[in-house]
Amino acid sequence: MNSKAQSKPEHKLKYILIAVTAALVIAAGAVVSIWLSKPNITASSEKAEGTLFAMDTYMTFAAYGENGKDAIENAKKLIQDCEALWSVTDENSEIGRLNLTGTLVASSETVRLLTFAKEYCAYTNGCFNPAVYPLVRAWGFTTGEYRVPDESEINALLNSVDIDNLKIKGNTVTLEPSAMIDLGGIAKGYAGDLVIDSFRTRGINSALISLGGNVQALGTKPDGSAWKIGIQSPYDNALIGVVDVIDKCVITSGVYERYFVAEDGTVYGHIISPFTGKPASKGLVSVTVICDRGSFADALSTSLFVMGTEDAIEFWRTHEGFDIVLMSDDGTVYVSEGVFGAYT
Ligand code: AMP
Ligand code: MG
Repeated sequence: MNSKAQSKPEHKLKYILIAVTAALVIAAGAVVSIWLSKPNITASSEKAEGTLFAMDTYMTFAAYGENGKDAIENAKKLIQDCEALWSVTDENSEIGRLNLTGTLVASSETVRLLTFAKEYCAYTNGCFNPAVYPLVRAWGFTTGEYRVPDESEINALLNSVDIDNLKIKGNTVTLEPSAMIDLGGIAKGYAGDLVIDSFRTRGINSALISLGGNVQALGTKPDGSAWKIGIQSPYDNALIGVVDVIDKCVITSGVYERYFVAEDGTVYGHIISPFTGKPASKGLVSVTVICDRGSFADALSTSLFVMGTEDAIEFWRTHEGFDIVLMSDDGTVYVSEGVFGAYT
């Protein structure tokens, strides 16, 4: 005898009713879809939280599950290790030493990140270019001692902005004289990927981290619903919009993160066009990239900002694997179709 049918006779009745209803509906020429869902039993709702100031920004971590607390402590250590490797203002970091001496036997993590950086430079037609550092420095964005360099200084420094000046052979990295590298446009996204991967290996399947403007979500919220990520307006505390994501990152680049106002009132932001040597100003005030990997989203958000409104939209049209929310300086917000329905 079927024990299921015996212990739950009411189910039998339900199935008969559904079958009869379905037969009537089909006979009437219509088809009914019955949506079935299971409660989320994968994520524990035990929440662990942490904060950290590192990489020049305020970071928050939330992880759900048994190992959340340990996972967050490990994540903080991981980020601090990344900062110790890649801080451009620390002469003892690997990037600091590379810039100072022109040569470095690098850690595998640094080699991987530099290799990515070179690939993204090619992929974005040079808009993402870590070799732009001499100009980032000349405009004062490294020290906070802001200034407007004159054309001759900019032109002289532009001569060294060439990613081919950076060479990687095994773990040996070299830089041509006068070239310098800054991984500030990708390091946080890459570090976020390392954190999310480390959460996964510790059995966490629901987590949200925010490294400054970089938000990365692992899985769903513990109740199985999507994470709701607000995109901050560059002008005030309001939001441009809110995007629902599962297992994705939402990474924003904008002038408002770091900028200065010159004597003539011009606002200069920290994203430098590798083509002009000046702060990028081609119509965008905020660029958000939504995709699976933080390193990709981070490099891309910086690059699209350099491209400007029209070229950024064209780049999205002709490339795969990411969505965008752009705000232009006339206040128009462009939202790509992959987030239609998930954007409010
Ligand atoms: P993000 O906030 O990710 O857009 O990165 C901006 C930071 O990346 C700046 O503060 C610089 O350190 C660096 N940076 C500026 N311009 C570029 C560029 N065109 N390509 C790569 N990195 C850049
Ligand atoms: Mg970036």
